[in-house]
Parts: sequence; C-alpha cells; structure tokens
Amino acid sequence: MKVSFYNLGCKVNLADISRIGKQFEEAGHDIVDFEQESDVILINTCTVTHRADADCKKIVRRALRQSPNAYVGVVGCFAQLSPGEIIKIDGVDGVFGQNEKFHIPELITDFKKQDEAMVLVGDLKDIPFHTSAVSDNVGKTRAVFKIQDGCEYNCSFCTIPMARGGFRSIDFAEIESEIKNFSDSGFGEVILSGVNLGEYKSINGENLTHVVRFLDKLNYPIRYRISSIEPNLLKPEILDIIEKSDKFTPHFHIPLQSGSGEILRKMKRRYRIKNYQKLILNIKERMPDACIGADIITGFPGETAGHFETTLNLIKSLPISYLHVFTYSERKGTPAASLEGSVPRDIRKERTKSLRKLSGNKLEVFYRSQIGKIKTVIPESYSKESGEWRGWTENYVNTSFSANKNIPPDPIKIKLLEYKGGKLISELI
Ligand code: SF4
Repeated sequence: MKVSFYNLGCKVNLADISRIGKQFEEAGHDIVDFEQESDVILINTCTVTHRADADCKKIVRRALRQSPNAYVGVVGCFAQLSPGEIIKIDGVDGVFGQNEKFHIPELITDFKKQDEAMVLVGDLKDIPFHTSAVSDNVGKTRAVFKIQDGCEYNCSFCTIPMARGGFRSIDFAEIESEIKNFSDSGFGEVILSGVNLGEYKSINGENLTHVVRFLDKLNYPIRYRISSIEPNLLKPEILDIIEKSDKFTPHFHIPLQSGSGEILRKMKRRYRIKNYQKLILNIKERMPDACIGADIITGFPGETAGHFETTLNLIKSLPISYLHVFTYSERKGTPAASLEGSVPRDIRKERTKSLRKLSGNKLEVFYRSQIGKIKTVIPESYSKESGEWRGWTENYVNTSFSANKNIPPDPIKIKLLEYKGGKLISELI
C-alpha cells in the first residue's frame, strides 16, 4: 500500500508521525508524499489553537480530493481529546488516540473505507513512552529527538495534559544508542525535545541534568540544543554544564507567557517574574553571546492594557533575542475558558502584532551584536542562484556564506559580517 502523512502542530508531533511512518515501512508499505495518490492517509492533529477542528476538516477534504478512495485516519492530540467531533467529518475512517497511533499496522489489517469511523482512543493513565525522532531540515543535518512526553502542570489555558497524558520519558539506557544512530546517519545536531522537557525523569531517577552531563561526555561529532524548557526547570547545574561545554549550544527557549505577575498566577504558571528576570540575566552573564527566545500569550482573560504594558516593558528591559507570540484562544475544558474578563479579539490581535514587531527589533539587535564574531555553522542548504550556503550558528544566528557547493555538512568556522534581510552574511575563515 501507498501510505502518506500530514502533520499539524509542533516538532514533537512531527517526530511522532515520523515514527509511525517507519512502522508502516517496516510492515512493507511504501511511504509517499502527501501530494501523491495514496491508499492510506494519516493526519496527525494538534489542539493548541481553536482552529484544530477547522484545520482537521480542511486536511481531510484535501486528502480525499487527491485520493478519493483512501482510508483516512486521524491521530494525535485532537483525536485523543475530541473523537466525537472527528467522526462527524465526512470521509474519516479511523480515529486513533495517543497510544493507539503507535500500533496502527497491528490494529488495522484491512484498510477499507468505513461507513462510520472506527474510534480507537484509550485512556492515557498508563500510556508508555514512545521514542521518536525526525529531521527538521531539508539538509537532514539536524534531528529533533523526543526524550520526554506528557505534562501534569495544568496551566489554566492548556489542553496538553488532557491530550497527551502525564509525564513519561525515554529510558536513560536508550539515549546513547539513539545518539549513535543519529551520528551514523550523518546528523551533526540533535535537539533534545519534550512536551515538558525539564520534567525528564528516567525509571532509575535520572533527570535532565544527568542527560545533559552524559551527552556532554559522549564522543560523537554532534552538537546538542535543548528545546523549550520551563524557567523553573532550567537548573543552575544545567547552566554550569552548558556554559563550559563545547557540545551544548548557548541557545535557550524559555516560555514567559506574560510579564504580569497577576496574569501568571491566573495562568497557574510555576514561577515569579523576578525569578524569570534573574534567570535571563544570569544566562547572559555566564554566556554573553547566548540566544534566548521566549513564548508570550496575548489577550489572556483579565489582561488589561496595563498588564500588557508591563509585559512589553519587561521584554524591552531583558536581553531576550526573539519571541514566539501566541494569541490566546479559549480551549474547551480548560479553567481559563471560564475566567471573567475576556479580551476582545481585535485587541488580542493588536497586542500580538505589537509584540511580533518588538520581537523583530530585538532579533535585529541581537544579530547586530554578533557582527565580527567567529562562530560555527553546520551547512544546511545550498542555493545555486546565489552560490551561498545557509545554516545556523551554535547561538542560533541564521547566516549565509559563499562556499563551494560540494562542501560536506560538517561544522565550519565563519566570521559574521553584515546584517541583511533578517540574517547575517558571513565568510569562511
Ligand atoms: S507546562 Fe503548562 S503550558 Fe506547558 S504543556 Fe504543561 S500545562 Fe501546557
């Protein structure tokens, strides 16, 4: 059979769908592009925004236009949370929850179109950890490696604990063999990822500090990046290792969500503004060239113009390099959805717009501060038109440089020269 996939949502989801693809390959099927005619189409869904339902419907329709007779399965977060809504979508044949999505070739032997969608969505209580990884770039130089899944924090706006279940992590003993596989496959960079990465905990009690320390001592030609981590979980011991490491990159993504203590409390976040400030300043003091990203939510219930102003001022005052800004949307079943003080949608959007503008300015300031520095890039993609390679430095500067199109995808030293069109032009040294 020809099997194709469509992924909605985050990199952890992308890693999961890649693992499901491998399972189908191992079962003897051909994996084809989503644009090609297929016998089975699996759509991996997300619930982060209120558009989950509309997005899912749109992709089912697209899939059926391309392959009218294909078996259509919907898997992942939205499937786990709202199977009842998915079975109402015309053309869906199967709905698979977070655990069941990793067993589809065993669960379904006859992928025939159904009059009524079959729902295979179980309880998340004892869901095991499923290892998954994926390349996140065309050059296949960088891998996203999921080492943790699930969350139990219950931030008041978030559906993830309901959609993905509780904390679970990869066995510590499995990590090295996965890293060896990445190295053998030619990956020069691995991004350690998880739904709440800082909550990594192995059955023997190893935590994220143990993982970072262990990887730092491994002898593979790989550099490591840690993906988004909650501020209360980025421990000084982890910073100690990264500061001295030539394997871990000085790049951090630390969600803030709001600069107002009052809003953070309503969000049920687990840190105080003053601790967040201290953490960011501490990182920059230890690693002055570090790139620091932050997530922000605009228009959370009760966010007044004054609260928003406080957020703007906090971000302006901190050496944050860029923002990922999300406009708040009510998610069914979350405590925040019934809070008073709903912010009109046009104001939410306006706030998002002004924070995105601020983010652009901050990134430019950060990039300009790097001019003249010597950094290491893993060449990712080559443009025949410009004769330039593109890639990212260890501190997450997007840069391009002229070089022979046949250079290998190995780390290479460059000097950052000039800010142009949202990136830095550099030269080989
Ligand atoms: S930490 Fe909060 S926002 Fe992040 S996944 Fe857990 S509940 Fe959701």
